[in-house]
Amino acid sequence: MSVDTPFQIEFADRLKELPPYLFVEIDKAKRQARAQGRDIIDLGVGDPDTPTLPHIIEAMQKAVIDPANHRYAFDAGLPALREEIATWFQKRFSVSLDPLTEIYPLIGSKEGLAHFPLGVVNPGDKVLLTDPAYPAYQASIIFAGGKIIRIPLKESSGFLPDLKKIAEYKDIKVMFVNYPNNPTSAVANKEFYTELVQIAKDKGIILVSDMAYSEIYYDGKKPTSIFEVDGAKDVAIEFHSFSKTYNMTGWRIGWACGNRKLIEALAKVKSNYDSGIFQAIQVAAITALRTDEAEVGDLRRMYEERRDLLINGLRSLGWKIPSPPAAFYVWGRIPKGFQDSMETAKAFLERADIVATPGVGFGKAGEGYIRMTLTVSKDRIMQAVERLRKIL
Ligand SMILES: *Cc1c(COP(=O)(O)O)cnc(C)c1O
Repeated sequence: MSVDTPFQIEFADRLKELPPYLFVEIDKAKRQARAQGRDIIDLGVGDPDTPTLPHIIEAMQKAVIDPANHRYAFDAGLPALREEIATWFQKRFSVSLDPLTEIYPLIGSKEGLAHFPLGVVNPGDKVLLTDPAYPAYQASIIFAGGKIIRIPLKESSGFLPDLKKIAEYKDIKVMFVNYPNNPTSAVANKEFYTELVQIAKDKGIILVSDMAYSEIYYDGKKPTSIFEVDGAKDVAIEFHSFSKTYNMTGWRIGWACGNRKLIEALAKVKSNYDSGIFQAIQVAAITALRTDEAEVGDLRRMYEERRDLLINGLRSLGWKIPSPPAAFYVWGRIPKGFQDSMETAKAFLERADIVATPGVGFGKAGEGYIRMTLTVSKDRIMQAVERLRKIL
């Protein structure tokens, strides 16, 4: 190469295939507003605002000074961690999992969800995704060369996919479901999973269940794991996370569980990409799983109070908005007078200094909706409602 020909960097086709990042404009506007010194209330990010529970931090402090934890971790995770996950799962869902073959610790559940398609999806294979959906799924399917088919989630069906539609599609290899759902906060019950598992068995569809919000629920109604359905282990893998339950988003730890062949596929992919989770974090995660249920209950109560405050506040502005049964997202139709979700988000930011996420960023069927998180204090929520009162 001569000095006067600039070296051209060409991205791989798979990167060019990624859909445009729709939150880019809002992100930019948010940064600009902050740089101008404006007091922004961020109802955009789904990241707990309160710290990791203290007993978990203490366990980490002890584990981090132990040289035994400084070396490459065992890929498949500490046996003690896998056993603790099995114990937790049994207690929480009355489902037994074999720690050795049916559980696999991850560097956050997103990491596992993103790597899993590489283990089971061939180029051209059809993968069903809901619309709207958590954006990480579609990227992982594109990277694996899969073909995405989107199935809309309608408010009139409780944001559950129409299972009769699924039965009509041919040659579906994998389907992703996520309840409690991000962004709609909808939950699925055992009847839904029973029907879904039956269809998956009839049609040979691998089911991926993302349960990152399994412990963030309200009004005492515990969400269901797909494995509460008999025989679900024949077709399903489920992803769990420490992030939202124990305020550990930055720690990067979660797990996959279920069908041993599916776990094996994921493990094979991962063994070529990473070398396990920092062992001190695994040790702290064992402590996390032993957290007194009352402490997680306090967290739930905190979000529940915020939820009621925000919902009642927004309703007092004449905005008809449903109260979420789980997760920490308020998902509502855009208020009257706005054209679309992007325009609404821009108006909230420009005229009320509030960041909210436009529904269209989660898929076409998310158009007409806006998402607001419950990860700010009650004072900030009250302030946000007052600011919206001025513009709605
Ligand atoms: C937050 C979130 C995750 C990722 O959790 P990590 O374990 O922190 O990677 C996965 N799925 C959904 C739907 C989420 O909202």
